[in-house]
Amino acid sequence: MANHLFDFIRSRIVDPDRLFMETPDGATMTYGALLAETGRYANALIGLNIRPGDRVAVQLEKSPAVIFIYLACVRIGAVFLPLNTGYTLNELEYFISDSGASLVICDPHARDGLSEIANRHHAQLETHGRDASRSLYERVMNASGEFHDVARGPDDLAAILYTSGTTGRSKGAMLSHDNLASNALALVETWRFSPQDVLIHALPVFHTHGLFVATNVTLLAGSSLIFLPKFDAKLVLSYMDRASVLMGVPTFYTRLLDEAGLNAETTAKMRLFISGSAPLLAETHRDWSKRTGHAILERYGMTETNMNTSNPYDGDRVPGTVGMALPGVEARVVDPETGKPVPQGDIGMIEVKGPNVFKGYWNMPEKTKAEFRDDGFFITGDLGQFDERGYLSIVGRGKDLIISGGLNIYPKEVEEEIDALTGVIESAVIGLPHPDFGEGVVAVIVREKNATIDEQQVMAGLDGRLARFKLPKQMFFVDELPRNTMGKVQKNLLRDAYKDLRFS
Ligand code: AMP
Repeated sequence: MANHLFDFIRSRIVDPDRLFMETPDGATMTYGALLAETGRYANALIGLNIRPGDRVAVQLEKSPAVIFIYLACVRIGAVFLPLNTGYTLNELEYFISDSGASLVICDPHARDGLSEIANRHHAQLETHGRDASRSLYERVMNASGEFHDVARGPDDLAAILYTSGTTGRSKGAMLSHDNLASNALALVETWRFSPQDVLIHALPVFHTHGLFVATNVTLLAGSSLIFLPKFDAKLVLSYMDRASVLMGVPTFYTRLLDEAGLNAETTAKMRLFISGSAPLLAETHRDWSKRTGHAILERYGMTETNMNTSNPYDGDRVPGTVGMALPGVEARVVDPETGKPVPQGDIGMIEVKGPNVFKGYWNMPEKTKAEFRDDGFFITGDLGQFDERGYLSIVGRGKDLIISGGLNIYPKEVEEEIDALTGVIESAVIGLPHPDFGEGVVAVIVREKNATIDEQQVMAGLDGRLARFKLPKQMFFVDELPRNTMGKVQKNLLRDAYKDLRFS
């Protein structure tokens, strides 16, 4: 019987001796070895009595083992549940109890903290340490690499990924075998992946970007990975002479731009630079083109939907846009109230539909219902607009929209004007409760080193560039903006930090 996702992966393995992965320590793994290794993990998990549909929660530092456990879960029909390595015990308890995980796999140093939680929620706990005895690793070493994949259909769950949850509790997005397979196939086609490609993998593997986009695209193209434990600009640059693709968050690109060695020669072997998960400043896009001759390809996606849109491989990659819907995916911009598409050029809510869109939030049928339209479109929560050529731009999260004196203000519009001022690196614009206007615009600004631009100069620079109601009513200068591991500015933290502000 078929295993929907793993059958696709197998079908791409034409030569078992072909390289799948290499790591900085010089170790390599072929596709044939990957099959045997994931077979061993599959047998070890079966030995722990993990059944189809069971949730396997994994909080491990980035290593190839995370990929093997993910693929082993696919092969045994279990549901892979990766957890951010930064989560605290309190947060982990929520994920373990909410998901009803049967097994928790952690690094040896986390065992003591997690064992009580695992006990309380009737989950088994296994460490994954090479030197630890009685660990999953030991079971894997003693297991056979032969494994017959468990039958799974397109709609069966492959993974649950908890969203980063900037408001309220984080929600478990249920992703099926076909959500993952269909999206990887669309990306292989759109980005022209082939067995010749070598991808520099420097993203975390607890998030959709590094786990699914990077890994599944590689697997479904039969390409190979240079698998790095984390992003390090110098290390990434050093691999560019024998890799072909980099997938990154915008901070990868800004950090690489700080490297003196980044130029057209050192990137000459590279075929494609892809960015996503947070907005890439148009300025970074232009600087990158100037320095390397490569136009970064920006795409847009989210945990719940996998990838939705991408700039074209051939054709213009337009800075500040996320391109068009991927093959098989529909994207529209609607009036959030009525759900009716707005005229081209107007800002509205981005909604998407297609085989990429998740099966709903785990244990939250009401929340799931509220996020879908009757015609099956998922309400992303992102605001955007289409230009006349059909390129989508993201204006920001709907909940970041500021309504001041009854008028809508899109933070991005104000941020772009502030960022363009001499002496400013970047800014974040938020709305805070205002006694007269409902909300007042507040700008949090990061100055360039040694720059002295102050509030008055910012106001003078914005004069005539923005309508008066959009101008910041208060400003703060900070050393850096709070960002999560995917490079997203955490506006909720800023709103929180300045919540006691009294507008003067
Ligand atoms: P996550 O679920 O962590 O992948 O976050 C998804 C969110 O990241 C989206 O809903 C967008 O708000 C944001 N995002 C992803 N890609 C982009 C992009 N290229 N430009 C701007 N925002 C993006």
